[in-house]
Amino acid sequence: MKCPHCSTTIEARQPACHKCGFSLAAMQPFFGDQWVRLERLTDAAHCLRLADRHKAEMTLDDLERAFPQVFVAFYFGSLPPVLNPQEVAFWLINNGAFSTPQISKRNEYGVVCVVDPAAGTVGTAIGYALESLLAETAPTMILQAMVPALSHAEYGGAIEAAATSVSDLLRPLAIARPITQSLSPGPHAGSSAADYGLHPLRSGHRQTDSTPSPSRQRR
Ligand SMILES: [Zn+2]
Repeated sequence: MKCPHCSTTIEARQPACHKCGFSLAAMQPFFGDQWVRLERLTDAAHCLRLADRHKAEMTLDDLERAFPQVFVAFYFGSLPPVLNPQEVAFWLINNGAFSTPQISKRNEYGVVCVVDPAAGTVGTAIGYALESLLAETAPTMILQAMVPALSHAEYGGAIEAAATSVSDLLRPLAIARPITQSLSPGPHAGSSAADYGLHPLRSGHRQTDSTPSPSRQRR
């Protein structure tokens, strides 16, 4: 990965950049060291129109349906002047709890895009596991996809462009694995839903007949 501060190539999970010393700890004075709860779309800059937000939510739903392990999140806001959006994106991918039950696992497969509309800057960070699967140029490609829309202050368009870019990067990696073999019967084959406390709707509230069904008698 590239150091978010000086762009030197560094090892993933290296505690600090060997060239400039940048580390998560160096950002503590600005953000602390606590996890922060975030939605996929955080618009602290109030730059997204309602229609942009609705469309973006649908786009991100589609992306997560196509690639269930992956999520993409966006933060729009004014950043501290001494921090660049790459650094903030890096902090968020490490300290953001993105409304998912498996926070630490999912961040490994997350992409965070940070836009400071007032400063006209944008940055991105990719989770470690996902980064290891993608080309080194992936962050640049995502950012370049966003730039045309951002240059016209079309923030919804920038979200769409980023999501399309991430999908295009992931599609060659995705493997469709349809279930082609029938499920092999285990030791409990022949049991019924009632054996698991599940009662068929058609039997209403009556007790389920415990005599073996014809198919079970044949066995
Ligand atoms: Zn550095």
